[in-house]
Amino acid sequence: MWRITVANTCIASGSCVGIAPERFELDDVAGRAHPLTTDVDPDEAVLDAVASCPMEAISVVDLATGEPVEV
Ligand code: SF4
Repeated sequence: MWRITVANTCIASGSCVGIAPERFELDDVAGRAHPLTTDVDPDEAVLDAVASCPMEAISVVDLATGEPVEV
């Protein structure tokens, strides 16, 4: 299981939402994106979203090891 976190450095570019709309959505009030579900099964689309983020604001941790998931 992975845990997805979006830092407050997010600038709401929407890249993650465009790449993985089933994983991320934009919160217009907060002015940033957030994961639809925080804890998910491993999913390549999440890593694609991480790689697309211009602010490197998305982090993914493997809950089994506590280590960051490499993109
Ligand atoms: S790609 Fe990064 S900066 Fe853009 S909305 Fe997603 S988390 Fe925010």
